[in-house]
Amino acid sequence: MTAARAGTVYLVGAGPGDPELLTLKAARLLATADVVLHDDLVPEAVLVHAERALAINVGKRCGRKNIAQEQINRMMVDYARRGMAVIRLKSGDPLVFGRAGEEMDALTSAGIPFEVVPGITAAFAAAAALRRPLTDRRGGSSVSFCAGSHAPGSAIQPASLAGATRVIYMPGRDLRAVAAQLRSEGLSAELPCVIVSRAAQPDQEIVRTTLAKLERVRSGPAPSILLVGEALREARSEAVEEVVGQATGVMMDHSQPVAL
Ligand code: SAH
Repeated sequence: MTAARAGTVYLVGAGPGDPELLTLKAARLLATADVVLHDDLVPEAVLVHAERALAINVGKRCGRKNIAQEQINRMMVDYARRGMAVIRLKSGDPLVFGRAGEEMDALTSAGIPFEVVPGITAAFAAAAALRRPLTDRRGGSSVSFCAGSHAPGSAIQPASLAGATRVIYMPGRDLRAVAAQLRSEGLSAELPCVIVSRAAQPDQEIVRTTLAKLERVRSGPAPSILLVGEALREARSEAVEEVVGQATGVMMDHSQPVAL
């Protein structure tokens, strides 16, 4: 049974709205949480799983007075410091357009332990509704998630621009070709690259490097996926940054996925 731990914050994906598309892990964490800070888009049918929790809508829509991001960050930290098991519940997947980066940075600075539980992002629900694939080997070799109004002044950006995070499925074990291709597009040699092998499984492996050193890396046990992009850079306060900068440029992290 997955029980939410006291003093910990869980960034949980609620999925696209259908409560059946909530993960079992999310449902079990919700059932044992003390506080749930949720967005507007999370429907009541999902919130009913949080039987014993204080549920607080910290959403920014519906004409409600804006709750500043800093205030949400503070609430997460304060409740966790009081020894409560806190869930930050976001629609879809918590790491897709959900300001989770800022929230995790705030939790890290405050020394609050946190875990992330993925959810089904809107793009996957939309594709299922359409009964059309997001990729097709006959003519759709990549998918791009972009924000129409992500940050002030931003416009829809072509996926090829340096600001995009690339998630490369089936990268192969020899990463020389993919590294050369990314370099030929003019991407910075210092761009963070991460290979995640057997993600969300007990023997998960993470190898961090930079684009300059990617060609020297071999991916871990299959299946592996390669992520490339500035958004993957670790918080500067973390020691990991220095390790990545060292001679080999490779750091093994045998961190476990959330084992609950
Ligand atoms: N973290 C969310 C996205 C948050 S941004 C995710 O992974 O899905 C909010 C935007 O997501 C909405 O404005 C809308 O464009 C999209 N969205 C979220 N749920 C949706 C749904 N059920 N159907 C269609 N679009 C949805």
